[in-house]
Amino acid sequence: MKKRLLAFCFIVLVLCLSPLLAAKDPFSLPVSTVVLDAGHGGKDPGTSASYGFSGGTINESELVLDITKRVYSLLSVERPDLRLVMTRTDDTYVSLAERSRVAYSTELPPQSSLLFVSIHVNSAQSREASGFEVLTKRQEKRVAFLDEHTPIKNIPLFAPFTALELNRLLNQRNLFVAQTFEEVLSQRMVTSRNRGIKERDLYVLNASRGPAVLLELGFLSNEGEARNIISPAWRQQVAMAITVAIIACV
Ligand SMILES: [Zn+2]
Repeated sequence: MKKRLLAFCFIVLVLCLSPLLAAKDPFSLPVSTVVLDAGHGGKDPGTSASYGFSGGTINESELVLDITKRVYSLLSVERPDLRLVMTRTDDTYVSLAERSRVAYSTELPPQSSLLFVSIHVNSAQSREASGFEVLTKRQEKRVAFLDEHTPIKNIPLFAPFTALELNRLLNQRNLFVAQTFEEVLSQRMVTSRNRGIKERDLYVLNASRGPAVLLELGFLSNEGEARNIISPAWRQQVAMAITVAIIACV
């Protein structure tokens, strides 16, 4: 009798745990969708600078849109299987909430994941500051994945896990993504200083509810880097580096 009871308890336990045992980490599934987020736009030009060589004021919003479009073109050719979404395609203002909503409200094909890549250039009070950095969500910042905004099709990806477990898995994946970007950018942008990976409390990183990086590609406040950034050849080179990093993550 005791043996039967034990066997019964074992079966119940297996049945209860089976969805969890079968479920895969939703953030490490093959990437089907890449959200390319060109920072700023419209009434928000981002950082700006003016030099003798620049032919007037240069705005971050314009430069990062150009880089993002280049990434879109390169990625479309290299990986036509990926679904690419741009949060803006022209000089219009898009709120941070709207950018994040594009990420978390996108319906994903079964057993696939999403990657959010936000593209910016930097500015500092010191004109000496230079280099690129890869920003990722602060690990302690908790994200809610299941609510009324979660597309019905995406619910099975997250439902088998607790919120705590999902946050742990997201942090793990974010670290992998950030390390991949840092490695590829440092290999391909050899003249740029690698400022490393930094955890930041930024709206789009927190609210996108999925693996996300924000790239600061160089400093407009540094004259040498501004010369690079306004050069289409440099922007093409950096767009290629970002494309290679995305492919390494998918
Ligand atoms: Zn910016």
